[in-house]
Amino acid sequence: MSTNPSADNSPPITTECVIIGAGPCGLFQVFELGLLGIGAHVVDSLAHPGGQCAELYPEKPIYDIPALPVCGAQELVDRLLEQIKPFNAQLHLGNEVVQFARRDDGRFDLATAGGVRFDAGSVVIAAGVGSFQPRRIGIEGSDAWEGAAVQYRVKNAAALAGKHVVVFGGGDSALDWTLELLPRAASMTLVHRRRDFRAAPASVARMHEQVAAGRMRCFEALPHSFLVESGALRGVSVKSPDGAVHALPADQLLVFFGLHPKLGPIAEWGMALEKKALKVDTEKFQTSIPGVFAVGDINTYPGKKKLILSGFHEAALAAFAIQHHLYPQKKQFLQYTTTSPVMHQRLGVPD
Ligand SMILES: Cc1cc2nc3c(=O)[nH]c(=O)nc-3n(C[C@H](O)[C@H](O)[C@H](O)COP(=O)(O)OP(=O)(O)OC[C@H]3O[C@@H](n4cnc5c(N)ncnc54)[C@H](O)[C@@H]3O)c2cc1C
Repeated sequence: MSTNPSADNSPPITTECVIIGAGPCGLFQVFELGLLGIGAHVVDSLAHPGGQCAELYPEKPIYDIPALPVCGAQELVDRLLEQIKPFNAQLHLGNEVVQFARRDDGRFDLATAGGVRFDAGSVVIAAGVGSFQPRRIGIEGSDAWEGAAVQYRVKNAAALAGKHVVVFGGGDSALDWTLELLPRAASMTLVHRRRDFRAAPASVARMHEQVAAGRMRCFEALPHSFLVESGALRGVSVKSPDGAVHALPADQLLVFFGLHPKLGPIAEWGMALEKKALKVDTEKFQTSIPGVFAVGDINTYPGKKKLILSGFHEAALAAFAIQHHLYPQKKQFLQYTTTSPVMHQRLGVPD
C-alpha cells in the first residue's frame, strides 16, 4: 500500500475503481474488490485512514465485530489495513474528492482539492457521515485570511520559523504544535476557551513549564477580531471570560478547534438522496447513477442500520456488482478463500 497526498498537474490516474472514504467500510471494500481481482484507489480528506473509528473514538473498544469479542477502534483499522495489504491499493490521504462527473462513455472523472485526478470505471462512495472539515475560527471575515495567515492544519512547519504564532485550541493538536513550533517561532501564544485542556496531561504540563519560564504565553479567551494594518494581518484580539479584550501581535494563526463531518460536495453530484444519505438498492448497493455504488453509513435503504458489520456485508455484494458493471461478459463464481487457488494467489497465500 502506498500513499500519494497530492499530485498537482499530473495526468489522471486510470483505475477500475475509486473508493471515496478510507473508513472501515471503504477499507473493507478494497479487500472484497481485491478478492475478485479488481484494483482500487482510496481517497480520504483526513490525513489518516479509519474514518470515524480513528477520528472520533480510537481508544474505545468495539464489541460487535464478528469473531472479535472485543476490538479497539484503532486496532480494527490497523487490522483492516493489514488485511488489504496484498492488494496494494493506493491511499490518497489528506485529499477531499470535490469533483465528480459521469462521462458519455460511462466512465467517471474525479478530482480532489489537492489536484489528484482519476479516470475510473466505477466509484464506491464510502463517505460515512461526510468529509471531516475543520471547525473555523468564528471571526467575521476569516475567509480572506484562511489558507495563509489563518490555518487549520500545519502544511509546512519550516515556513513558520521566525513568525509570531498564536495557536487556538486545547486538544492534542493545539498542544503538540505549540510545543513543536515554540523553539523556532519568534513568539508563541496559546489561546484556549477554558482553563482545562483536553490534551495529554504530559503535554499540558510541558506547556505550563514553558509559560512559567517566560518562553510563551497562554490565555483563557475566545477569538474576537482580526488586527489588520495596511492590508496585512498584524494580530488577533481575544476576549477573556471577564470581558477584557487583549490584542495579540501575530502573523500566523493556527486554529485547532477539531473537525466536524459535512456531506459536502457529494450532495451536489446528482445521486438520489434521502435524509442526507445516498439511496441504494440492496442487491448491488448501487446509487441512482449506474456504476456508482455506496456502502457504509453514507447509504440508505429500508431497514438500514449504521453499523460496521452492515457496511462489510454491503461491500461484499457491491464488489460482485462492480465486477459485473466493469466486465458484463465475465461469468461470476462464488469462491471460498479457504479453497480457491485464484484467491490464494491474489492474497499471496502459498498453496
Ligand atoms: C462514538 C462512536 C462509537 C461507535 N461504536 C460503534 C460500534 O460499537 N459498532 C459499530 O458497528 N459501529 C459503531 N459506530 C459507528 C461506526 O463508527 C460507523 O458505522 C462506521 O465508522 C461507518 O464507516 P464508514 O466507512 O461507512 O464511514 P466513516 O467511518 O465515517 O468514514 C468515512 C470517511 O470518508 C471520508 N470522506 C467523506 N467525504 C469525502 C470526500 N468527499 N472526499 C474524501 N474523503 C471523504 C471521511 O473523511 C471519512 O474518513 C460508532 C460511532 C461512533 C461515533
